[in-house]
Amino acid sequence: MKFTAFPKKIWLSSPTMHGEELKYMTEAYETNWMSTEGANIGEIERLVCRKIGCKYAVPLSSGTAALHLAVKLAGVKPGDVVFCQDMTFDATVNAIVYEKAEPVFIDSEYETWNMDPAALEKAFELYPTAKVIVIVNLYGTPAQYDKICAIAEKHGAVVVEDAAESFGATYKGRQTGTFGTYNIISFNGNKIITGSSGGMLLTDDLAAANKARKWSTQSRERAPWYQHEEVGYNYRMSNVIAGVVRGQMPHLEAHIAQKKAIYERYKAGFRDLPVTMNPYDPDTMEPNFWLSCILIDKEAMCRQVRGDSESCWISEPGKTCPDEILTLLEKYNAQGRPIWKPMHMQPLYRMHPFVTRAGNGRGQTDAYIESQFVDVGADLFQRGLCLPSDNKMTPEEQDIIIAMVRSCFE
Ligand SMILES: *Cc1c(COP(=O)(O)O)cnc(C)c1O
Repeated sequence: MKFTAFPKKIWLSSPTMHGEELKYMTEAYETNWMSTEGANIGEIERLVCRKIGCKYAVPLSSGTAALHLAVKLAGVKPGDVVFCQDMTFDATVNAIVYEKAEPVFIDSEYETWNMDPAALEKAFELYPTAKVIVIVNLYGTPAQYDKICAIAEKHGAVVVEDAAESFGATYKGRQTGTFGTYNIISFNGNKIITGSSGGMLLTDDLAAANKARKWSTQSRERAPWYQHEEVGYNYRMSNVIAGVVRGQMPHLEAHIAQKKAIYERYKAGFRDLPVTMNPYDPDTMEPNFWLSCILIDKEAMCRQVRGDSESCWISEPGKTCPDEILTLLEKYNAQGRPIWKPMHMQPLYRMHPFVTRAGNGRGQTDAYIESQFVDVGADLFQRGLCLPSDNKMTPEEQDIIIAMVRSCFE
């Protein structure tokens, strides 16, 4: 089939502005609250607390900064073992590494693509002293919190929830960003709503919120001069950025509805193809549908080999692979993306422990090899991809994307 390139690029997920953002930014300018204090800051704290149902929301310069402070609040010290979701964006792990702790990667499950509760249980067998779990809601889909939280409680571990991708999603009616003791959201440019940048730490613990505020302002002590008793950071959010977030907040639900419509349209469009969408349990979860992804059935995969920076595949009739689809989309000016490459496959982290439900894959014990268990993360990475999920994409444009994907299976 022949396609023509989209005249305007179809983005994976780009900022969607509404006008109020400019009003609040202008207010900051005209009242000269151009620093890290002002009405917008106070207002987004209030709005986000109300939306999430948490007591405290601390505005920070990025989701990564929020994660760093969350990991510190969880009491992570140099050398500590920290259980971390394996399939995620690198920012999740960086926060652990900033504190010189040892991340132990926990494999994913097919049900949500998030941390596998069975692998987490296994990890506590192997590392019974672990005290912190960092979990992610991938692409806006909540993890299985009933199971995860029960395991954490049984082992006396603190949960840090990286809800950077899932703002507005719920599990059993409860907002993500409330399942950990310390939780974070992000307002990076491609998230469900944006501040252009920025993030927030969410908690019900007043002392923790106050500590995060203090750390984020270079740990200034209460004194007439600059008095310092512990190391600090410049992690505050600007009141101008907060103005953008404030203007976006009323549109969060509309963005989610648009993203959900995109997900449903893809699902219908691929009904008869050998693919599945990024899954969730409709009985317990309402994702925010930040990104729509597909997983190609094993039988419909052509051969695809990936090196560290290049990929090679062999086309076959009736079969395809993520890199073939992504290359076709790119050719016609549409942006997709491979699934996050699991952390245990990253050159930076290759030598760190990695635990699947069958045990410690890194050790390659006889029991592990006999189990013939292929790690779920590597499999999802091999067969999955994120499709253009921009909420400004029209149904007509999306239909062309669907036709492009279909053509790869011909
Ligand atoms: C975007 C993202 C972050 C980091 O947020 P920033 O605001 O860009 O620092 C952290 N974790 C996950 C899973 C993300 O997708």
